[in-house]
Amino acid sequence: MGPVLNGLTRLQSVENRLRAGKAQLTRCRRNVVIQENQVRSLQNALEAKKEEIQLTKIQCDRLELELKSRDDEIAKWRASLNSAKTNKEYAAVLTQLNTTKADNSKIESQILELLKDIETDEAECEDIQKQIDEQKQQLEKTRTESETLAGKYEAEINKVQAEWDEVAQAIPSEPLEIFRRVAETYDGHAVAAIEQQDDRKGATYSCGGCFMGITAESVNMLMSKDEIIRCPNCTRILVLGDSQV
Ligand SMILES: [Zn+2]
Repeated sequence: MGPVLNGLTRLQSVENRLRAGKAQLTRCRRNVVIQENQVRSLQNALEAKKEEIQLTKIQCDRLELELKSRDDEIAKWRASLNSAKTNKEYAAVLTQLNTTKADNSKIESQILELLKDIETDEAECEDIQKQIDEQKQQLEKTRTESETLAGKYEAEINKVQAEWDEVAQAIPSEPLEIFRRVAETYDGHAVAAIEQQDDRKGATYSCGGCFMGITAESVNMLMSKDEIIRCPNCTRILVLGDSQV
């Protein structure tokens, strides 16, 4: 292998560091996004709870109004009870009065249930609000930390990028273009070292990227020439492995 293939091998190692640095930066920023989403989902839960309380209160008001009108009805039944002229009439009014009273006590217990629900929901709201406050505090801390870290990572990435540019400068444009294209396809892994397996019959070779067999001719060519040979299966740029150089 000559300067082109050696250059590509070096470029691959810089590319690996560059990609690792960029991945680190993305992870560090993602932490902030994850926590922002947590706060948002808590806020949504709080809004939903508050809306629920609002609806329960409306229902409660409606029942209280109904209760009041039924109380008026009871007063009326009581008055008619006093003015009943016959036993039959008295008994009929008494039945109405008792039925209305029974209905009222049902409504009263319904109202009590609803008030209890409101109380529970309000306690839950307080709890969620407390969680939101805590999460927000945590978020601010994470944001500050990740900004500091991101700055450090960015500086490191810029340094590695400069190194990449320098190494790339020494590589002719055509092989460099191939490197770029294959790197894009394989998440940065453009160059694959040939792996060698030795047995009694001799050595067999395979692509370090996809593990498909590589001919001995290809290996010989790489040993004698400084030309790009690509894996016939995965198209990665082949270079000699440690056991061949
Ligand atoms: Zn391959």
